[in-house]
Amino acid sequence: MPATVPVRVRLAPSPTGTLHIGTARTAVFNWLFARHLGGAFLLRIEDTDRERSKPEFTDNILDGLRWLGLTWDEDPVVQSARIEAHRQAIAQLLASGHAYRCFASDAELSAMRERQQAEGRAPRYDNLHRDLTPEQQQAYIAEGREAVIRFRIDDGATITWNDLVRGEMRWAGSDLGGDMVIARRAPADAIGDPLYNLVVVVDDAAMAISHVIRGEDHIANTGKQLLLYAALGLTPPVFAHTPLILNQEGRKLSKRDGVTSVGDFRAMGYTAEALVNYMTLLGWSPPEGIGERFNLEQAAAVFSFERVNRAGARFDWDKLNWLNAQVLHGLAAGELRQRLLPLWQARGWGEGVGADAAWQEDLCTLLGPALSLLVDGVDQAAP
Ligand code: GLU
Repeated sequence: MPATVPVRVRLAPSPTGTLHIGTARTAVFNWLFARHLGGAFLLRIEDTDRERSKPEFTDNILDGLRWLGLTWDEDPVVQSARIEAHRQAIAQLLASGHAYRCFASDAELSAMRERQQAEGRAPRYDNLHRDLTPEQQQAYIAEGREAVIRFRIDDGATITWNDLVRGEMRWAGSDLGGDMVIARRAPADAIGDPLYNLVVVVDDAAMAISHVIRGEDHIANTGKQLLLYAALGLTPPVFAHTPLILNQEGRKLSKRDGVTSVGDFRAMGYTAEALVNYMTLLGWSPPEGIGERFNLEQAAAVFSFERVNRAGARFDWDKLNWLNAQVLHGLAAGELRQRLLPLWQARGWGEGVGADAAWQEDLCTLLGPALSLLVDGVDQAAP
């Protein structure tokens, strides 16, 4: 990439749930990378799943990022507002022959999958409607069938990219599951709802994103997206796929692990400082000299993908607890009081916890060194 391309990165959360720790960690790496290089950190709300997307989740995600100190540089882009641009790109792919309408019914598709299973093959679309004649298409339309729009994926293609974390990557077209659906089923004279891989490419290009930094669960999508960049005549960004966060058993951290949303950690009494510090350490090894306890600015000064590990990062409660205690012990009494006040008030202590601020600060001086969670400062203040 020429040195003149400005660094612009983005976090692209789907507002289908509260801010997940994995998304927040992706945000941390994007933020650190942008700040390190003097670039821009942007947000795109990927709300194209209309049934599952909710405004309250968008609010929760933005609040969580703000609380963590992961400030963004431009108004968030709302993906659903860009649907005309997505449709235009699909029309372009149809016109250039990179995409086509597939009339296969659900029943035909599941019969196809059963056949593949019986033969011990991996499930994939068999590209059956790739080269329908106009007469065949007319016959399906006359039957009243609707069509999805598929993007041609050449089985013989080899997709390569130089990943900032994982190095030289190579993906075979034949491993991408056959021609990919880019628009949902709709009447054959329309373009149905555009789908994830297509919209991400169109939006990242429109936002002039220079580096896509996201979890490694998106690697196969990157293969598909690179083919779309080429077909649309767009320059692809540089990719960095960050390691997943694993639970104690070494499996991907999921909802089943209980505490996974940033709001949960906050409610448990973790400070934003400790949580961002900890998330930075999940997959990144700080260089000599800055230790393990640092703030975002200090990490940004030395951040690079060379020190991001490829292996998954196991969640370590002890380390998080240690960091949180360090943060709490380092707070001035006045600051600790500010943070405890809402918790005391939530206990119904109102203004009454020893009435005056000076007394409360003295209490904080006393309590501070013993806290490892902010909420401890409520229980210990009770007597
Ligand atoms: N909305 C996608 C997600 O939440 C974004 C993936 C990407 O960064 O491209 O996983």
